Amino acid sequence: MSRPRNAARENGGRTRIATVSLAGCFGCHMSLLDNDERLVSLVEAVEFHRSPLVDRKAFSARCALGLVEGGCATDENVEVLRDFREHCDVLVSVGDCATMGGIPAMRNGIPLEECLAEAYRDGATTVNPTGRLPDDPELPLLLDRVYPCHEVVHIDHFVPGCPPSADVLWTVIQALLEGRTPELTGSLLRYD
Ligand code: SF4
Repeated sequence: MSRPRNAARENGGRTRIATVSLAGCFGCHMSLLDNDERLVSLVEAVEFHRSPLVDRKAFSARCALGLVEGGCATDENVEVLRDFREHCDVLVSVGDCATMGGIPAMRNGIPLEECLAEAYRDGATTVNPTGRLPDDPELPLLLDRVYPCHEVVHIDHFVPGCPPSADVLWTVIQALLEGRTPELTGSLLRYD
């Protein structure tokens, strides 16, 4: 496993980490925040760089660790994930959506055209007299299916769960910050 590199530390000696939600529900981020008072010691050790937790939307420096929630459902998700791979020494798929597509991937067995028609034209509660489907060029393009992150870029570690518990995320982050391979055993392997 790669150790966080000095280049990925900010001036105060804190390790830079980045987080993102792709095709996810932010539940994995909420689980990270469930660490409650442990977050105080976390922010003493790390600087949240590009992350919705600090509302920062672009990299301006390299990060030691990138935590990715959600898989890739759009071309924008792919672009952001590749940007994370480029800027993070160690990249972690966090949660079932990132590791296997999760709930968004339930559409994978249905042709994209059928999904769009049901959502925007034919659905029982849909009102769309023109029958036009969303086609503004500003909208991210939906991919043919939802891809787990490792099918798009190399992923260094996988953390299952929907969401992974606060204890699991704490254990994984602590291990990676110390340059160790995370080991999830005992109660950390429960997903109910
Ligand atoms: Fe939300 Fe679960 Fe997906 Fe995390 S794994 S983004 S909690 S649906």
